Amino acid sequence: MIAKERVALLKCEEYDVEKIEAKIREGFDLLGGDKYLKKLIPRNSKVLLKPNLLDVESKDSIVVTNYVFFEAVIRVIKDYSSNIFFGDSPGFGDSCKAAEKCGLMEVARKYDVKFDPFKESVNVYLNESLLCKSWNVAKIAYEADVLITLPKMKTHGMAYFTGAVKNQFGCVPGTQKATWHTRMPDANNFCKMLLDLNSVVKTNFAIMDGIVAMEGNGPKSGTPNNMNTIIMGESITAVDSTAVRIIGYDNPLDTPVLKEAFDSNWGFVLPEHIEVVGETISNMRSNNFKLCREAGNFYFINPVVTRFLRGMIAPNPHLIEGKCISCGRCREVCPENRKVISMVKVKNKEIPQWDMNRCIRCFCCQELCPAGAIDIKYTTLSRILGMDKR
Ligand code: SF4
Ligand code: SF4
Repeated sequence: MIAKERVALLKCEEYDVEKIEAKIREGFDLLGGDKYLKKLIPRNSKVLLKPNLLDVESKDSIVVTNYVFFEAVIRVIKDYSSNIFFGDSPGFGDSCKAAEKCGLMEVARKYDVKFDPFKESVNVYLNESLLCKSWNVAKIAYEADVLITLPKMKTHGMAYFTGAVKNQFGCVPGTQKATWHTRMPDANNFCKMLLDLNSVVKTNFAIMDGIVAMEGNGPKSGTPNNMNTIIMGESITAVDSTAVRIIGYDNPLDTPVLKEAFDSNWGFVLPEHIEVVGETISNMRSNNFKLCREAGNFYFINPVVTRFLRGMIAPNPHLIEGKCISCGRCREVCPENRKVISMVKVKNKEIPQWDMNRCIRCFCCQELCPAGAIDIKYTTLSRILGMDKR
């Protein structure tokens, strides 16, 4: 019989530091209390907290790990170590500014938690990989004694869902992320790559901020949904598996990360292998959460067939012209050497234009558009085939 992995599921309805702290303590109690925590965080070990920073976002942003949530986590972890760091490396822009703007830096200063911008990196060779052996990752993420990931509960244009597994993509320094998107343009390989990355950096624990989650056009331009949820556990796949069931997937294997994890025997994925303690999934589950549309996989052996089918059924980045502020970031972040996007003048306004023959559908442009002006559009055929289902 396979041992079940424990995940703590808690209900918390507001960003109130004392209430969240109490819930996180309750979660640890459910998992084994003080003894459990002492084992997880050996006295004064070097702890790295890895929140989700996507961009320069304000304090009330639903895109990043909330600063009050972050404070509550620190208040608990401080009892076990005074050697705490936090860091992330968003795909675009300055991580220090991003951490300052969303309030994390201010909280960190208050508790003497040090910031690491993930600029120093190490090369790591992963022998037992699913797909990717050579890695360059943030040094501190590789070397910390304890890595605690603090993902936001969000939808994602390519991976459908971004949680505890995907959050470690920030451990790949800055613009190198775009290179990975180019190398892994289909969702399944991208997810295998994420699992390999997690084998490199070895996350010890996850505490997911799902108090206000993001639904719809994630991971940056979706809308808030009060899910009132905190999920905690050692297995990042078990935490994600619990999260996707709460947002409305009946089967966690309908999401590419968890499907790849299950197929590769990587972590705990199936509900029958996970023991949820605290709240029940049925009590916490939403029936109105707007799931991200499937980006799909469009890879066939014959490149001509691939190109043809891609045009017929692959989803496309689509401009919502009225929202575009002509910043050109979409062009800047496009990882293709010969940029797929050109900025063209239409009625006195510069807007992006895509060469869809060369677009690899990595959706970096959609992910990083600061104005939410890009969404994912489905072709008629993909709709007929039901590939756009939510
Ligand atoms: S689509 Fe978004 S990223 Fe591109 S120019 Fe417009 S606002 Fe900027
Ligand atoms: S245009 Fe957008 S989706 Fe296409 S390759 Fe560039 S960043 Fe990726």
